[in-house]
Amino acid sequence: MSETAALLRVRGLVQGVGFRPTMWRLAQRHGLRGSVSNDGEGVRIHICGPATAVEDFVVDLPRASPPLARIDRIERESAATLPADAGFHIAASGHSVARTAVAADAASCAACVAEIFDPCARRYRYPFTNCTHCGPRLSIIREVPYDRAATSMRGFAMCADCAAEYGDPADRRFHAQPIACHVCGPRLQLVRTDGRVMSVEALTALDAADAACTLLQRGHILAIQGVGGYQLACDATQAAAVTRLRALKQRERKPFALMARDLAMIRAYTEVDELEAALLAGAAAPIVLLAPKSATPRPLADAVAPGLRTLGFMLPNTPLHHLLLKRMQRPVVMTSGNRSDEPQAIAAADARSRLAGIAEYLLEHDRPIERRVDDSLVHVAAGRARLLRRARGYAPAALPLPPGFVGTPRILSYGGELKNTFCLLSPDGALLSPHIGDLQDPLTRADQHALLADACRFFAFEPQLLACDLHPDYSSTQAARTRAAQAGLPLRASQHHHAHIAACLGENGVALAAPPVIGVALDGIGYGLDGQLWGGEFLHADYAGYRRLGSFKPVALLGAEAAVREPWRNTYAHIQAQMGWASFAMNYAELDLHRFLAARPRALLDAMLQRGINSPLASSCGRLFDAVAAAVGLAREHASYEGQGAVELEAAVDLECLRHEDERLSYPFAIPQIAGLPYIEPLSMWAALFGDLLLDTPIGVIAARFHRGLGNVIVRMVEQLAAGVAAGDGALPAVALSGGVFQNRILFERVLAGLTGKGFRVFTHSEVPCNDGGLALGQALIGAAQELRGLPHRGDPCV
Ligand SMILES: [Zn+2]
Ligand SMILES: [Zn+2]
Repeated sequence: MSETAALLRVRGLVQGVGFRPTMWRLAQRHGLRGSVSNDGEGVRIHICGPATAVEDFVVDLPRASPPLARIDRIERESAATLPADAGFHIAASGHSVARTAVAADAASCAACVAEIFDPCARRYRYPFTNCTHCGPRLSIIREVPYDRAATSMRGFAMCADCAAEYGDPADRRFHAQPIACHVCGPRLQLVRTDGRVMSVEALTALDAADAACTLLQRGHILAIQGVGGYQLACDATQAAAVTRLRALKQRERKPFALMARDLAMIRAYTEVDELEAALLAGAAAPIVLLAPKSATPRPLADAVAPGLRTLGFMLPNTPLHHLLLKRMQRPVVMTSGNRSDEPQAIAAADARSRLAGIAEYLLEHDRPIERRVDDSLVHVAAGRARLLRRARGYAPAALPLPPGFVGTPRILSYGGELKNTFCLLSPDGALLSPHIGDLQDPLTRADQHALLADACRFFAFEPQLLACDLHPDYSSTQAARTRAAQAGLPLRASQHHHAHIAACLGENGVALAAPPVIGVALDGIGYGLDGQLWGGEFLHADYAGYRRLGSFKPVALLGAEAAVREPWRNTYAHIQAQMGWASFAMNYAELDLHRFLAARPRALLDAMLQRGINSPLASSCGRLFDAVAAAVGLAREHASYEGQGAVELEAAVDLECLRHEDERLSYPFAIPQIAGLPYIEPLSMWAALFGDLLLDTPIGVIAARFHRGLGNVIVRMVEQLAAGVAAGDGALPAVALSGGVFQNRILFERVLAGLTGKGFRVFTHSEVPCNDGGLALGQALIGAAQELRGLPHRGDPCV
């Protein structure tokens, strides 16, 4: 029988996911000799044996790969044959250049959960149980290649039993780097945050995790050391505890995430379809936004998600969570361990000082968190999972590059200002960082700086080009400019909404050479090219450039930043821009809205508007939502988080009315033109809405009519624009939907259905957030496309 040998290089998510032992087992099965090792490129497999067995191995490899692995590419070369007695072994990791994928943290697998609840098992109730199919990865890693010595487990020497499992290729824990047990691993402790000693015996006969459960049941607030950061927990059915947590955390209305011990309990509180159940129970274990049931076993406190019609639920994702919630008969609030908008604490000392005023007890351990990784957030819209915050469980999985980008230079993009992420783009793929947060907060800014340096070191990534937003005041733009100047690197700034559309094209694998699409980018505010603020844009765009085809009507942002915090300012600006105050006062004087606005300092506001002081024009769809929400009394006086009005307006929609009401009752919008540029004009919408307010029409009906009308006009606008840019053969251009406004499920589904119904091919987001969390990917792709096309570095390249 003829012998042959092959060298296989496997690229993708193949380290830290049990790939080497799986290959060992596969080689045993096929009777092959050789070795498997990690190196900077991924996994390297040298096999030798009968030619048919080698071919079978190659065929079986993709199917045999372990559950957390993702293979991007397998390359094969010929190799030296090996002596007949060579055997097959797992080689130690090489220390060559590390450009390989680092795995995301994964929720406890079923086998590990069964083990911690098995009284006869060695790891009964051990809170740090994990195996090659589950456990911490990104949050504990310090260096690559991924090995125990390169993680925060380096301080824990394995006991003989763990070492035996670690060394046994047939064991589920073969080469599981964070392997640990009661004897040798990290330990849990429950302490009072005021420093006083406490006795666990008074609370439980079991252990610290169970004692913490008793404290939750008694209505206490606990800080818990999770995978990628500290979390704050309390019983979600105890109104006093939830309200106290809101007050102490200084989080007024932004919804809290919930955790329940199992799927059955989540189903008792919400409607969960098949896809949602799969998301909840998957290895990423994100927070999933779900529709609440009206009848529940024990009602949740109103303060969990005030004014909303969704609940964000997740399942336990660590053994510690499982142990903590085992006896908990109701959901708990499980929110990030921080005060208001700061990043969540990850270091023990920091957690104690920052959370002491909020939590009474701290459930902590001695396995340090190396890196903050927030909980991911996802919802299902139009039958697909859509990530709204991409972090734990998803990042840093690399996204494949669309066709045509192979020759790209290495690009580091800095993202936006809110929901910041950054992106490392190279011919190997696009690595989008986990969600970092709002850079207006200095702690988050410092965090971004550290995470960025970390990622570049990790992946030995030396950028050849930097990319950022056009907005000169974004901290991310300033950071990019500083770095570009210091390192002498070229910098490409891209327009905010163009970057949204490029991100959407990129995640859908649209080729670099594909014809331009109609990009519909709707969000709060982004920096436009004409000195105005944009935020409701229709672009004719490909990766390299765009042309603005239309927008929402520009309306003054009264008081600039203040208009985001005080949504009524948008209502007032809209009234002045449309009918004028005098006309409004004459027709709608009996409205509560009129009384409210009349009591504002109108003379001052009017002076600002007339002279354009601190009142830039903004074609923002997000601010239109704010204006409408405030008009009907939702988040009118002030918004405690960005987009609160839009979120509460969506929650208010009367779903019955949305489905069945006569189409003619949808609010009307017109599409006139200024200087050849069509725009969405809301004047008639406002007249109809104020009329409804006069008639005491329920808010749910008003919200439904607004959503329907807005959805209709967006579809109509795209149809009109498509006629102008259609190809010579009359083929319709494709459409890409992006921007934070599309987090609104009702509007998104309506626009998507409307466009699909008209025959458009529509690209939407799923893996990459439609909000500013996706900008970094778009910026990097724009930079790459412009480089590949040899476009100059300044100016505004148009398609
Ligand atoms: Zn496991
Ligand atoms: Zn051990």
